[in-house]
Amino acid sequence: ASGDVPPLTIRDLTVRFAGLTALDAVSLTVEPGTVHAVIGPNGAGKSTCFNVLSGVYRATSGSVRFGPHELTGMRPHRIAELGVARIFQNLALPPRATVADSLLLGRHRLTRAGFLGAGLRLPSAAREDRVHRERVREIAAFVGIEDQLGLPAGALPYGQRKLAELARALCMEPRLLLLDEPVAGMTAAERRRTAAVIAGVREGLGISIVLVEHDMGVVMRLADTVTVLDFGRRIASGTPGDVQNDPAVVRAYLGQ
Ligand code: ADP
Ligand code: MG
Repeated sequence: ASGDVPPLTIRDLTVRFAGLTALDAVSLTVEPGTVHAVIGPNGAGKSTCFNVLSGVYRATSGSVRFGPHELTGMRPHRIAELGVARIFQNLALPPRATVADSLLLGRHRLTRAGFLGAGLRLPSAAREDRVHRERVREIAAFVGIEDQLGLPAGALPYGQRKLAELARALCMEPRLLLLDEPVAGMTAAERRRTAAVIAGVREGLGISIVLVEHDMGVVMRLADTVTVLDFGRRIASGTPGDVQNDPAVVRAYLGQ
């Protein structure tokens, strides 16, 4: 799939709230098929960046291009139709619906939008539904939640619920995956599982991933490129090794 994954290019992105600049002229490029980590202390602007990328917040100025498309000002469902999927920092799966139904829902939306490949647009609705259910099962197995498909999401332990959200995002067959603190609150085993899933997605699907994460072990292991934000500004960017040894980064994390 990496053949049709365009670069994501963020240029001079600024987001202001009353009296507060959450993002201050931030630029970064996510190369197709790579994992680009965005790190920084709490309040640095990481979630705000995701909120702009997914159409939840409006940029005050600057641009976000995904291939030929300008994402700023686009509505969230249009951005999703372009193949941008997101998992939130906080749990977002509806708690009463079964995991399987939540995963299927994302797929049916995309079918209607015509985003899925022509191979999946089959004549009979029943046949189409069966194909989707098979794919949901496949993705659930890949993420390691196949035994939970029949349960309401609310019945799952926290870490498994987050894995189910990752599965839901993958069910949308994204070209760009935005992961906001995917391993936060997880057990050590769930963290390893999630890191393996993300690595597998990168290898197997060739899609681009923007990873916001505080777990530096996970960032160092998975990221091709790291951008460091502090108080809304980009203070460093480079390979994991480069930024780890950057004095400005060390200062930001130690709070001067
Ligand atoms: P991070 O995810 O890096 O911890 P956020 O992007 O959530 O940081 O927040 C960056 C700054 O913007 C913080 O000071 C936060 O309080 C502020 N902020 C985020 N969203 C809003 C909003 N909707 N209204 C006002 N301030 C906000
Ligand atoms: Mg955040």
